[in-house]
Amino acid sequence: MSIEQDDDDELFIVEDLADIPETGKLARSWKIAIVDDDEDVHRTTCFALQYVQILNRPLEFIHTYSKEETRRVFAGETDIAVILLDVVMETEHAGLELVSFIRDELGWRDTRIILRTGQPGYAPEEEAIRDYDINDYKTKNELTRKKLLTSLTAAIRSYEQIRTIDASRRGLHQIITSSSAFTFEHGIQTFASGVITQIAALCGVPPEGLLCAQGEFSDFDEVTHQVFNVIASAGHYSNLMNCPIDEIIDSKVREALRHVLTKREPLFTDHSMTLYFSGRGNRPLAAYVDLPFQLSEINQNLLEVFCSNLGVCLDNLSLVSQLKNHAYRDQLLKLPNRLKFIDQISLALAENIHGQMVALIDIDDFAEINDVLGHRYGDLLLKAVADRLRERLGKNIFFARISGDVFGLLGDQHLLEPETLRQLFVDPFTIEETAHAVSMSVGIVALEGYDGDGAEPLKDASIALKRSKIHQRGSYTLFTRSMGIEIRERATLMQHLHRAFDAERLFLMYQPQIDLVSGQFTGLEALIRWRNDDGVLIPPNDFIPLAEYSGLIISLGAWVLRTACFMMVRLQKAGIAPERMGVNVSVVQFRQDDFIGIVEQALQDTGLHPSSLELEITESVTMSSAAMFETRLSKLKTLGVKIAIDDFGTGFSSLSYLDKLPVDRLKIDRAFVNQIDTPEGPRIAELITQLGKKLGLQVIAEGVEHEIHWKTLEAMGCHEGQGFYIGRPMLEDNLRDWIASRAART
Ligand code: C2E
Ligand code: CA
Ligand code: CA
Repeated sequence: MSIEQDDDDELFIVEDLADIPETGKLARSWKIAIVDDDEDVHRTTCFALQYVQILNRPLEFIHTYSKEETRRVFAGETDIAVILLDVVMETEHAGLELVSFIRDELGWRDTRIILRTGQPGYAPEEEAIRDYDINDYKTKNELTRKKLLTSLTAAIRSYEQIRTIDASRRGLHQIITSSSAFTFEHGIQTFASGVITQIAALCGVPPEGLLCAQGEFSDFDEVTHQVFNVIASAGHYSNLMNCPIDEIIDSKVREALRHVLTKREPLFTDHSMTLYFSGRGNRPLAAYVDLPFQLSEINQNLLEVFCSNLGVCLDNLSLVSQLKNHAYRDQLLKLPNRLKFIDQISLALAENIHGQMVALIDIDDFAEINDVLGHRYGDLLLKAVADRLRERLGKNIFFARISGDVFGLLGDQHLLEPETLRQLFVDPFTIEETAHAVSMSVGIVALEGYDGDGAEPLKDASIALKRSKIHQRGSYTLFTRSMGIEIRERATLMQHLHRAFDAERLFLMYQPQIDLVSGQFTGLEALIRWRNDDGVLIPPNDFIPLAEYSGLIISLGAWVLRTACFMMVRLQKAGIAPERMGVNVSVVQFRQDDFIGIVEQALQDTGLHPSSLELEITESVTMSSAAMFETRLSKLKTLGVKIAIDDFGTGFSSLSYLDKLPVDRLKIDRAFVNQIDTPEGPRIAELITQLGKKLGLQVIAEGVEHEIHWKTLEAMGCHEGQGFYIGRPMLEDNLRDWIASRAART
């Protein structure tokens, strides 16, 4: 066979498929696990491997979709030959955590692992690949049928070899680890000289040998004149470095190399061995090593394993440099990405320059911009922002794209003053000839006091950024140590909250609302409660932000909605229901794509009439993104659901804007009701009531704690009230008593 063949992938498969037995005698199968959260990947993989046999055996697939499921399923499995493992599943690290589970906890050393990832940026750490003996690494779009077959065949072959050659298992282990140690040595040179040392060490002989590969510029040569050069040499062959093999004077070395490179198989003689490694594309490798004695057959077999592993490494070498490029550069904006940013911070930490800072800039409401104006527009906006940063920040600031709409800046603190950053966003951005004003939230951390890994300060900067986003968009937050501590406490609380939700330790209480003039019972507000394991009530203000932060609010909120609707229906059936049931909706819920669908579903499942449901949405929601808010609200209105603006007066509603919104009610925040009998007086409550009147909206005051609050509010024309003076939040039974006793009084 000639080495002009430019595709040894092809060869590999043909050879393997060729030895499928004609009779479908069902041999034992190879168990292949597909671990991936994307159903499509399962389907395409199975489809691509349909009817395929590898090394005379059919394939049998095991499918899992998450880390947890995989742990469960694998615990009951044995003899899985190859795992095709998705790097990023529920979390960024789910895949690598599984690898550690497989290698360390299950102790499966023989199973071959092929990592797959959708995003090249998620290239795992080099150490992880080496330490966990990962066979291969592919991005998902490389998974064409042919490549899949090649990888799988190599992996299965490797698996079988490990399994069958049990003599000298330890030696084998050494081979596997030593070959994976090469994977990320940079550059072919280092790789090559490593190979010689390693082969020699494996066979217990001195490193006397050389390694040849096809010359760099062979592409320009006539195919018939392929040039192979010595790319590494050791011992008394050292002087042959860079020599074309045809010029090697020692004929037995020259012939051996030629033989191996043409025949693509190893050659063992009494005094030497010449090994063959299949490289990617048209770049095969051969290594010649002197042997003072003949190798046993078992050692020859071991070396073959070594070579096939190195073949993969060799592929990885070019793959890795490709990945590195992807891994360190954001492809859309041609900016360094998160990994590179972390590296850069690490460098800054190592240099220990005084006064360095990291700032993270997040474009407010970018998700909505994308939703409403489309991804193309979103991309253009990101480009415009990147261009502005590049232009204004100058060379002394290192800047990178951290994720979607988050940019990272690293540099001297004088250059990263809040005012400087604010200035960057004062002028609107021009997108397709129209101006688009953008606000941004910023999280900052000073590098003083950190050492080592750049990931730490970055994590803290994002904690500060989250703060800005939660408390006040468009603001700056400097990370402080206490935030870190708080975050850890939050993490514990979060775990407990998740457990509480699962254990149904969350429940609702209902607080009545009444007409201030007639005293008529008009509405209820559903308020969530959490009694923890110790019986202590945790206030919603402590855990709702946490649930928002973790996304639990989505399922939590849906549950609140249904529970409140069911309760309302029960009251209606008992003939004691007020006009409406108010349910609080958090910003995060409101933003979720399917929010309308969830409301519809709750109404449908419970049979509650839409007009009996009132959603309380805080003022900050209305401000967060005008366009999205308006469309969502109109849809809710079409459903027939009522809308109240909660905590009115604490946000920054633009009045002109409020005018346009399809809202039914303003809720005066209890802070303003509370100050009615203080020196601050009823001024703001009065203003809001006036405003409501002008806009033709109903007005309700919350936090009515004393008679004077009630009387003052009534006098100013506020329609309704809610508060401890009228009724505390109550459990369903107590509420029924409350309703009954009022009915008895009138
Ligand atoms: P909010 O929507 O402003 O709810 C009114 C809060 O005022 C409730 O606190 C209620 O117990 C309290 N309150 C009622 N009357 C009085 C009074 O006369 N004086 C005083 N000082 N307070 C009074 P709670 O139940 O602690 O809820 C706090 C916040 O947690 C709520 O504020 C709301 O934003 C949020 N929340 C509660 N339940 C839910 C829920 O199911 N979903 C969502 N997303 N948020 C909720
Ligand atoms: Ca409320
Ligand atoms: Ca409120």
